[in-house]
Amino acid sequence: MNLPIVDMHCDMLSFLATVPGANPFAPDQIACAIPLLTKGNVRMQVMAIYTDVRPESTNLAIKQATIFQNLLKENTDVLGYAGQEFLKNWENQSQIGIIASVENATGFGNEQASWKEIHTQFDKLLDQVGKFAYISLTHHTENRFGGGNYADGIGLKDDGKRLLDHIAGKQIPIDLSHTSDLLAEGILNHIDLQKLDIPVIASHSNFRFIWNHRRNLTDEFAKEIAHRGGIIGVNFLRAFLDTDVPERLFDHLLHGFAIGAEKSVCFGADFFYTGNFPDQSRIPFYFPLAENAGKYLSILDHLETDLDKNQLKDLAYGNALNFYRKLWS
Ligand SMILES: [Zn+2]
Repeated sequence: MNLPIVDMHCDMLSFLATVPGANPFAPDQIACAIPLLTKGNVRMQVMAIYTDVRPESTNLAIKQATIFQNLLKENTDVLGYAGQEFLKNWENQSQIGIIASVENATGFGNEQASWKEIHTQFDKLLDQVGKFAYISLTHHTENRFGGGNYADGIGLKDDGKRLLDHIAGKQIPIDLSHTSDLLAEGILNHIDLQKLDIPVIASHSNFRFIWNHRRNLTDEFAKEIAHRGGIIGVNFLRAFLDTDVPERLFDHLLHGFAIGAEKSVCFGADFFYTGNFPDQSRIPFYFPLAENAGKYLSILDHLETDLDKNQLKDLAYGNALNFYRKLWS
């Protein structure tokens, strides 16, 4: 099955920003290395500007945005900018389109930053990368904006509301992949109460119905995203699929179709640099069947008995492409 692929999340930028000697073309260094994206027929790859909650988060975000700019500048033979024009001429593209997102709003402002500083940083980053494919308020932990996946009981804070108000109407989706349940609820409620124009997605999340993990979406949130016309990128990490059963990946992908999210489900593989990860229980991070970006097409082949041609197209690229074409037209 040779379809173009859209993938909603990888951590190439933080890899290049933080690992000495990091090479975006080295498949033995990172599972989303550019030759692997080519092998997997990836036509559009979202690259996250990832920071955790630290005083230096804003500098690290700028560094990653600069790396994003340089990747485009220095690799015009393989990489293109996945903006409006790229999506419009999708059928004729031979490059891999890349676009940046912000994973953790602490990249806009650390815990001490003033709102003037946050707005300046927001504009600076946006100016560097052109568009944000999405913004996630948090990562696993709590920050000034709200509670992350592992911050149970921490919802949307006043600063989180203020940031949502700021991004409304700017064609920037909000990402629920790293929210606590209470934060996800708070975001949805605030958007509705204030009638904010903010699309809602989950860029790299699986389904809690299939594997009970706080990083995975409840069916309630998944259906809400689908109902609002958002997208859900299924994650390839073993920890979020089922730590023992590789084929559970297919169950997650099919669950999206089963609950009425057939126009939302897409890929959000979440390949990152695993060489310095502290938690040894996470090894291997990926099952062989989904161990790198060269595997998308064989994953689609495996689903041929369960999904028809149009469904496979929707999953491979159609749903994500439609979402961004509509958003940025
Ligand atoms: Zn993530």
